Amino acid sequence: MVRYELSDEHEAFRKVVREFAEAEIAPHASDWDRRHHFPVGTVRKMGDLGLFGLPFPEEYGGAGGDFTSLCVAIEEIGRVDQSMGITLEAGVGLGINPIATFGSKEQKQRWLPDLVTGKALAAFGLTEPDAGSDAGATKTKATLDGDEWVINGTKAFITNSGTPITSLITVTARTGPEEISSIIVPAGSPGLTVEPPYEKMGWRASDTHGLVFDDCRVPAGNLVGERGHGFQEFLATLDDGRIGVAALSLGLAQACLEASVDYAKSRVAFGAPIGRNQGIAFQCADLEVMVDASRLLTYRAAALKDAGRPIKQAAAVAKLYASEAAVTATRIAAQIHGGAGFIEEGPIARYYRDAKILEIGEGTSEIQRLVISRGLGLPVA
Ligand SMILES: Cc1cc2nc3c(=O)[nH]c(=O)nc-3n(C[C@H](O)[C@H](O)[C@H](O)COP(=O)(O)OP(=O)(O)OC[C@H]3O[C@@H](n4cnc5c(N)ncnc54)[C@H](O)[C@@H]3O)c2cc1C
Repeated sequence: MVRYELSDEHEAFRKVVREFAEAEIAPHASDWDRRHHFPVGTVRKMGDLGLFGLPFPEEYGGAGGDFTSLCVAIEEIGRVDQSMGITLEAGVGLGINPIATFGSKEQKQRWLPDLVTGKALAAFGLTEPDAGSDAGATKTKATLDGDEWVINGTKAFITNSGTPITSLITVTARTGPEEISSIIVPAGSPGLTVEPPYEKMGWRASDTHGLVFDDCRVPAGNLVGERGHGFQEFLATLDDGRIGVAALSLGLAQACLEASVDYAKSRVAFGAPIGRNQGIAFQCADLEVMVDASRLLTYRAAALKDAGRPIKQAAAVAKLYASEAAVTATRIAAQIHGGAGFIEEGPIARYYRDAKILEIGEGTSEIQRLVISRGLGLPVA
């Protein structure tokens, strides 16, 4: 095996996920996107295939596999549909991961079996109307009243928070003046309002809502990890998630490469395939370079994670590069497809709309540059 390739097992797994994605998701992706339809049945099928449980212990119903396998799954689902790709990425990276990593034994026993099998989905509520990149500015408050937390505040843009199978949202809240903690809020808790879905530019078949907590009461035992450690815990959660978003970006760039090369070979203008023009061929070459580089960075970060090595820098590098490459790739693909790239009948217009959020979610490009600069020892604010 060449050191920079995935193992035969990972490639065999890729084949299984690709066949599933081509058969169960690709034919419907445009329709779901057009109708802003969240396909619960398909999410359940992803669960049946074991995709939500890949890196989690077998004792809770997971596959006991590695993070690299999860990235392969996210890449392959994202190659045909970014909405289902983010549903998987956020479901695992933001929904399950905090509980699997920091939760108590009781919390894991109660919540993980349904989550890792895709019977239920979990969300992570960090962002607020006035606290996004500056997550330390969180205003949501949780006050202990007897054996219950009473939560008040508002969260914005929370993925998977309002699906018919959402079982919980882990929210960050101020539990003291200098304290941020994470608390599990079960779906349907009194005092929790899930706002109507956003009208989004992309990821239209994914589920995103604002949340309002108005004296929302949950048991004191729903605190995840240590009281006051919520900030450090979600930073760790986001490091993992950034590798997942890099994999999602890679899937999109791969789709753009395949579609563009096919089109450059088959579309005839001036009596020859447009790929005969260096101006088109070289853009395909650039796509190949971007996909290759995104792949290497993504799977290097995943391999570090699997080896238990520090990932902060590698995750930020992979997320920054792959997301920006994906945005560029969709612009190139749209250009190569000419007018057809602008029309929603084909997938290119959807790819173009789906790409932008990759540079924003789970830390904007600016925040990745901040993390990377700090990793270089620069004294940036
Ligand atoms: C579809 C969708 C799904 C999402 N899902 C989730 C979810 O499941 N859970 C969740 O908690 N959040 C979620 N988010 C929120 C997302 O993570 C935030 O939108 C993102 O972190 C940016 O925060 P913001 O929107 O408040 O932008 P801001 O933080 O207000 O940033 C605005 C601009 O200022 C820049 N900026 C800010 N600070 C700095 C700085 N110090 N240096 C340089 N530039 C800076 C930013 O990079 C950006 O360009 C989702 C968002 C969307 C749109």
